[in-house]
Amino acid sequence: MLKLKFLGSADSAGIPVHNCNCIVCEKYREEKRVNLSTCAYLELNKKVILLDAGIDSISNIFDKKRISAVFLTHFHADHCMGLLRLRYSKDRINCYHPKDEYGFSDLFKHKHSIVYTPLEDFQEIIIEGISFTALPLKHSKNCYGYFIKSKTVQLAYLTDCFEIPQKTLEFLSSKKLDAVFIDACYDESIKKGNHLNYLQATKILDKFDAKQKYLMHTSHTTKEYIEKNKISLKYRYIKGNESFLF
Ligand SMILES: [Zn+2]
Ligand SMILES: [Zn+2]
Ligand SMILES: [Zn+2]
Repeated sequence: MLKLKFLGSADSAGIPVHNCNCIVCEKYREEKRVNLSTCAYLELNKKVILLDAGIDSISNIFDKKRISAVFLTHFHADHCMGLLRLRYSKDRINCYHPKDEYGFSDLFKHKHSIVYTPLEDFQEIIIEGISFTALPLKHSKNCYGYFIKSKTVQLAYLTDCFEIPQKTLEFLSSKKLDAVFIDACYDESIKKGNHLNYLQATKILDKFDAKQKYLMHTSHTTKEYIEKNKISLKYRYIKGNESFLF
């Protein structure tokens, strides 16, 4: 059994947003909920593999646990800021990522325990018996989604993107997918930018014959738009700390 748990799946501001009094942020405060920026992990036989590292406290969350690898989608702060402290780990930690000249902050200058390995398009890496394939996505920075294949499941993790290139769509349509997670940061009033809106993301999800399909990378303004306009979505957003067992 493979466990996929999200520690956060919101945009870079997280929810609630500091001092924002919109209905969404106020509701999150009332319910004592937070959705931080993007970080998930796979757990198999007590071994941990991170998908993105956009949460500052990962070095504490996984303290005393071996992190077998980190697969970064890209070097925006909301996907990699956790590495700023995790790099002081006493373990060597392998981090796979798209090519990026600058990385983020001084991560490349002071690597400490992190070993960075840039991937090629569609390169496959196998960690703890789970295969990860780098899927080119279109975003404002070089960005890879990942096709993840274990003995029990085949997943696609597709964030951040404003478009999925044809070759990535072709690759994925040749796979039998169990679950797909896709960037749907914007509401439908925003048609152009660095992310998909939920209607654009829905159209892409419609192309996949997967059993489970989810939206992610939401924001407080997107949630507010949905609530105010009483939009009913074909596919739902994952919760900030949702777990999936495959
Ligand atoms: Zn708000
Ligand atoms: Zn980004
Ligand atoms: Zn992001």
